[in-house]
Amino acid sequence: MLPDTPTGPDTPIGPDTTNRRQFLHRAAAALGATTSAALFGSLAGCSGQLRRSYTASTTTAPAQTTTTTEPLDPAAWSALAQSLSGSLVLPTGASYATAKLLYNLQFAATDPAAVAYCASASDVQRCISFARHHGIAATPRAGGHSYGGYSTGPGLLIDVSRMNTVAADAGAMRCTIGAGTQLVDVYDQLSQTGLLLPAGSCPSVGIAGLTLGGGIGVVGRKYGLTCDNLLSLDTVTADGRLLTANASQNADLFWASRGGGGGNFGVVTSFTFAVHRIPELTLFTINWPWPAAADVLGAWQAWTASAPDELWSNCQLQSAGSDGLNVRSNGVFVGSAATLTGLLRPFLAQAGTPSSQFVGSDPYLHTMLVEAGCENLTVSQCHLTGSGAATPAGAGAGTLPRSSFAATSAYVISALSTAGVATCVQAVETLHTGVPELGGGIVFDAHGGAINTVAPGATAFVHRSALCAMQTSTSWGPGDPPATVDAAKGWLQKSAASLAPFVSRSAYQNYIDPTLVDWADAYYGSNLPRLVQVKRRYDPDDVFHFAQSIPTTLPHP
Ligand SMILES: Cc1cc2nc3c(=O)[nH]c(=O)nc-3n(C[C@H](O)[C@H](O)[C@H](O)COP(=O)(O)OP(=O)(O)OC[C@H]3O[C@@H](n4cnc5c(N)ncnc54)[C@H](O)[C@@H]3O)c2cc1C
Repeated sequence: MLPDTPTGPDTPIGPDTTNRRQFLHRAAAALGATTSAALFGSLAGCSGQLRRSYTASTTTAPAQTTTTTEPLDPAAWSALAQSLSGSLVLPTGASYATAKLLYNLQFAATDPAAVAYCASASDVQRCISFARHHGIAATPRAGGHSYGGYSTGPGLLIDVSRMNTVAADAGAMRCTIGAGTQLVDVYDQLSQTGLLLPAGSCPSVGIAGLTLGGGIGVVGRKYGLTCDNLLSLDTVTADGRLLTANASQNADLFWASRGGGGGNFGVVTSFTFAVHRIPELTLFTINWPWPAAADVLGAWQAWTASAPDELWSNCQLQSAGSDGLNVRSNGVFVGSAATLTGLLRPFLAQAGTPSSQFVGSDPYLHTMLVEAGCENLTVSQCHLTGSGAATPAGAGAGTLPRSSFAATSAYVISALSTAGVATCVQAVETLHTGVPELGGGIVFDAHGGAINTVAPGATAFVHRSALCAMQTSTSWGPGDPPATVDAAKGWLQKSAASLAPFVSRSAYQNYIDPTLVDWADAYYGSNLPRLVQVKRRYDPDDVFHFAQSIPTTLPHP
């Protein structure tokens, strides 16, 4: 259990400073957990703040199609089930209704032919062989957080969530992590040996999808993307081989697996990463009244551009339904509260007087729980409802709800102009006045630091010169009528169009966006031709195919 009192010192940075627990309680109340609110910026975490979330299923149609599945002979499924050391859930199974769900309930109407919970690489090999033999789609799934619903489909889901061990070697400063491990379990287990891996905020995101597409997190400016820390991985390819890829073996697959995106080259079963000793960490959260929004965003851009690598932060412009509009900056500093307080001064001087602010140090695991929106939860509770930590006590203890949402992303290479800032503010105000029952907004997550010291072609993750990633998102509920869902998506598209003149044409492949037209260029840029070559080499028959999978030929030679 978490302690009832703050675990670190609260450092004053202004007259309105309060302690962290009081601050978060006040912020939660101000933002209204029961009103419309968005899944708001991935780095804002998966729960807790500004996200409207639901446990019921929705009936929205899936965004993808793959192979059409004729019902198979039940005996074939039986034989597959008996051959697995894990388990197979068929549509007739009691757990099927939950087993088929992704995090985003927008895709809850997709009915896979079966969900195979693979417990080993051999299970994965059997599943791929089965799917190919019967001509059905084979779709990998780890944490199930694909924005585009690309980890479900009508065929066989190859779920790796039971492959969730974390083996740390503090002497060698490395760890081996099962492909289905959720981030909160990575943080929990690594921290027990004093180690960390830089990764994302949302606790239930899977290490596989995150790493394969990059992996942005709150200590990323100091330690790099998750994929930048990858040393080696094991992948079952379409031909059923289990291949190790690293700097000296299958080096092209290793290159492609660091940012080339999930679901493209095979099913990863395990990752080995370099890890770091846990340093002192300090968090901050600052809110301003909405009229300051343009000044805050302008000041944040200038401030983050000159920040030390140790300092990561974001800037959020939010419409929180009936609770109004909010502008906020959150951050994590690798260092002391006293040093961070000094670093914040020029930002505050430019941004104007906050309405509330908090700066305080916390132990690493608790910092990650706070960033995950799990401030008052145990690690076991900090999982999706129906799941839990990989311990007998943790099984089924998860309390986090799923969500229905849509999002678009782009990279900001150099600071937005005054007109660009004004367009962002206007877009959020338009959501608030146009569809006040919805939540949503725009979040800017700092890049730079160690992320930008890697050459664009050194790994498949090409976005190495951005000031920040910009994500626009909105969410809705199962009770919302189709007109409201259409209004949410319409706002998203109009906002993206109005912001396009101010941002680059690139987008983060882990915020995979089914509405993006030039998606291959946007995700991969100059790395696309090499990714196509790797796809041809490891999956020449395009077995691992979805609407935005890497093609076997260049879309525009
Ligand atoms: C609420 C939320 C918060 C997020 N926060 C962050 C964040 O802080 N930082 C960040 O960088 N990103 C963040 N993301 C984006 C996240 O990184 C991507 O959605 C990622 O792809 C999710 O991985 P997953 O394993 O959970 O998802 P899945 O849906 O299981 O997989 C994503 C893709 O990878 C494929 N895949 C899954 N497992 C495997 C495997 N074993 N081998 C090969 N391919 C596989 C799937 O087929 C799918 O195409 C967030 C997403 C959400 C929904």
